[in-house]
Amino acid sequence: MTDQMTAVPTDLGSGAGVADPDPDADGLLLDGVVKTYGGARPALDVPRLHVPAGSFTVLVGPSGCGKSTALRVSSGLETPTRGRVLLGGVDVTSTPAAGRGVAMVFQDFALYPHMTVEQNVGFGLRLEARHRPRRGLRGGAGPLNKAEIRRRVTGACELLGLGGLLERRPAQLSGGERQRVGLARAIVRRPRVLLLDEPLSALDAQLRQQARAELVRLHRELGNTVVMVTHDQLEALAMGTHLIVMNGGRVAQAGPPTDVYHRPADPFVATFVGSPPMNIAPMATTDAGRTFDAPGRRVRLDHPVPGLGASGSSTVLLGWRPGDGVIGGPAEADRPSAPGLAVEATADVVEFAGDAVVVHLTGDGMRAAVTVPARGSWPAVGDRVTVTVPAERLHLFDPADGRRLPAVGA
Ligand code: ADP
Ligand code: MG
Repeated sequence: MTDQMTAVPTDLGSGAGVADPDPDADGLLLDGVVKTYGGARPALDVPRLHVPAGSFTVLVGPSGCGKSTALRVSSGLETPTRGRVLLGGVDVTSTPAAGRGVAMVFQDFALYPHMTVEQNVGFGLRLEARHRPRRGLRGGAGPLNKAEIRRRVTGACELLGLGGLLERRPAQLSGGERQRVGLARAIVRRPRVLLLDEPLSALDAQLRQQARAELVRLHRELGNTVVMVTHDQLEALAMGTHLIVMNGGRVAQAGPPTDVYHRPADPFVATFVGSPPMNIAPMATTDAGRTFDAPGRRVRLDHPVPGLGASGSSTVLLGWRPGDGVIGGPAEADRPSAPGLAVEATADVVEFAGDAVVVHLTGDGMRAAVTVPARGSWPAVGDRVTVTVPAERLHLFDPADGRRLPAVGA
């Protein structure tokens, strides 16, 4: 038996401790998990929420969508109303938080004000040594004695650049340093899975940027599984190797950040991820999806949209990213020269953003934004402009259920 197995108590229900037959079940898996707090709608309702082993997974979504609930259920601080929690294929649903080999860092770090950095970081280990000296967490070779605790605390503090601050108290630390103490306290226990609930939200913008890179480096050095919660989609895109976008207690889409960005599953994901958000508006077709028309806008495709006529619908939600629009060319809204979208509109608000300019457009009851590089020239407020988007950069969604429709122009 390895340390890892001894960390799981043996008095579990049936099936506990037995490897799951699903080979995908490495890492962390919420299997059919529902968590209801008594409200009409569950706070969390996920047929399958999978965190790949060794990944830096980011749970992202608007406030109240169930991110913290997912973390608390994973850590064991909360019991699911229904469903199972699996870690490395082992059912830990009824394993207490302390026995899961999982550590959680909260938004406010919650350091003990009267303890030094060293005491704060070592607190969990001292507790563990007192109550369960033989149950080391993963990597815990040998018993947890004073020397071992000191060795681990010093190691974690060195790794996080806290080496010179061991004797300080939290009040004598900056926000960024306190955040690193919170992290050190979690990693010192050598968790298989590190759960971070909005760990950067207390930091100011500049420190936050720096802390992002530190977290990514830390993950690389530890080689364990990290699940981080944020409501900031740019942070999610920047940091995650795996993204889980949540909405209303459910998983809206999961996958690598580039997939989520380039192939959003529905209009919610399309507009939540990306800045400025994707432009989306309904457009109607009269020829089964070969062309779409609206005042000031026209789309021409090489092939009709598969299945569009079959569902009886003649309308799609048409989306395009602000960065995929190209300003200029002749006014060709009526007859685009290549398959794609052509829009004629007026520049309404122009935002200079350093290396790019965001031009907000209005016209014929439509609003959209286009991002252009800030080299060369860009439209002035009031200018009439034509924007084109190539067909392969268009996104089509079914207006009935939001489902992404097959690739266009293919
Ligand atoms: P997020 O972290 O994404 O902002 P949470 O997981 O904290 O969202 O909350 C999801 C939903 O569950 C929210 O509607 C919230 O009000 C509700 N909720 C969370 N915790 C509790 C609780 N202890 N009691 C009752 N409702 C809760
Ligand atoms: Mg939360």
